[in-house]
Amino acid sequence: MNRNRQLVVQKFGGSSLATEDLLRNVAERVCERREQGVDIVVCVSAMGDTTDELLGLANRLSGDRSPSPRETDALISTGELVSASLMGIAIRGLGHDAISLSGRQAGIRTDETFGSARIASIDPARVLRELERGRIVVVAGFQGLTLADDTTTLGRGASDLTAVAISASINADLCEIYTDVDGIFTADPRLVPNAEVISHIGYEEMLEMASLGAKMNPRSIEMAAVHKVPMLITSTFNRDAKGTKINNFQDQGTDMEIQRSITSVVTERSVARVTLHGIEDRPGIAASIMTPLADAGISVDVIVQNVSSNGLTDMSFTVGQEYLQRVAEITSVNEDVGYTELGTRDGLAKVSIVGTGMTNSPGYAARMFRALANAGVNIEMITTSEIRITCIVEQDQLAAAAKAIHSEFELETV
Ligand code: ASP
Ligand code: MG
Repeated sequence: MNRNRQLVVQKFGGSSLATEDLLRNVAERVCERREQGVDIVVCVSAMGDTTDELLGLANRLSGDRSPSPRETDALISTGELVSASLMGIAIRGLGHDAISLSGRQAGIRTDETFGSARIASIDPARVLRELERGRIVVVAGFQGLTLADDTTTLGRGASDLTAVAISASINADLCEIYTDVDGIFTADPRLVPNAEVISHIGYEEMLEMASLGAKMNPRSIEMAAVHKVPMLITSTFNRDAKGTKINNFQDQGTDMEIQRSITSVVTERSVARVTLHGIEDRPGIAASIMTPLADAGISVDVIVQNVSSNGLTDMSFTVGQEYLQRVAEITSVNEDVGYTELGTRDGLAKVSIVGTGMTNSPGYAARMFRALANAGVNIEMITTSEIRITCIVEQDQLAAAAKAIHSEFELETV
């Protein structure tokens, strides 16, 4: 292929494709880019809420049973087939040559885990051949094929993953993710009005933010990091948005000074805490508490265990508020765990700072805690990783907490 030309993968999410007009608008943007001499693979999600609507239909029609995972995947993969073929038609309508491909036609093979399949391999031959013929290639996101020839889907929101995987397989120069916001922000602008779009961020920080709930699919960031796919997160609707570039600064030779020590404040509302008082301090106790929760598909977040006295200790952990009831039920009938009292508390929230700059420098935690103290915010629990410090605070103090930390680390000044 003529590698003097730029090769770009552009992914558009459901809200960017929700109506006929929006779909046409996206086709126009793709064609404009094409006219600048760029080779393009477009990766699409299903239009609007199509996936949810199809899942609703399946649930209503399956009676008392839950719908078969195989049939469900066959069904919901059609949402992306519709938007891909319509996109192909719209691009051709604008006078450019285009071809749409299903996940299978794009060479995407997965394991057999219906509903959240993992990509096993991609054979890029067909995509490359179509590009070579001068076509814009439109790939249906979110889907693949097992070795047994069954259609699978990759998990909710996983069209991003398709885009990154295709980018890696054809060695694209850039994977652009178009969404309804201008990029990744230094904080949630609804809580911190002077939050800014981050211009550059490393994979590691982005991954940490994604797992804290920033609106990105963590698996796609992971894959981008492993295969070193540079990404740009930007807006479908605001053409002036510069977006957020995700890459390895080291690889790009970017001026290190533009990388800040703290990149962002990430928040999560709706956290609840469970405390078990007076549990036995012996090997296996934590496993006994957590195993039934894991079996129920409930993920536990911040876990804190106290120093014991008289062989007894306390353990607290947080879960999403919507799980609190079930966690309390499951734990109270858990015969492997004795305790004197089970306490629950909802109405909590989580606020974190993320940044690779904190790895080797002490003092970030102290600054964060001081900022919270000055804002009158009480810290309920604390946990850290190499590049993150997280505090659990009261929900109605979340905005005050986020603002105080955002300004302490001067994130509003780009
Ligand atoms: N349409 C799928 C979903 O809604 C995949 C995606 O949007 O990325 O989860
Ligand atoms: Mg969707």
